[in-house]
Amino acid sequence: MSARYRTRSATRRANGEHSYDDDAWRKQRTRMLATDPPCEDCGAPATDLDHVPPRRLLIAADTSNVDDPIWLHPRCKACHSWRTMHVDLPLLRRLDAGENAEQLCSDAMVDTRTRRSVRHAE
Ligand SMILES: [Zn+2]
Repeated sequence: MSARYRTRSATRRANGEHSYDDDAWRKQRTRMLATDPPCEDCGAPATDLDHVPPRRLLIAADTSNVDDPIWLHPRCKACHSWRTMHVDLPLLRRLDAGENAEQLCSDAMVDTRTRRSVRHAE
């Protein structure tokens, strides 16, 4: 691994973005999806691993391993996108507005809304 690669990867981590070309993350993702887990929200085959709380919140709360399996939830693309839009982004806006990261992590973990559970409410 070149020094340049490490630097770019570290920058992405600091920004809280998924670093899909990061070796550790890629291996973790492959290992967890290898068992063909169902989407936690709708039961369809999962294609993604969703961080709950969102990765950038975990970083802001000084979590030691933001890619630990305890934070990762298998979801299909549609449910992952729904959670990102309706749960993650509002929390990250509150973080950017100065709210406490650990409190926002707690809020994220008790927010169990899914694309399915609110479909008829929207
Ligand atoms: Zn789903």
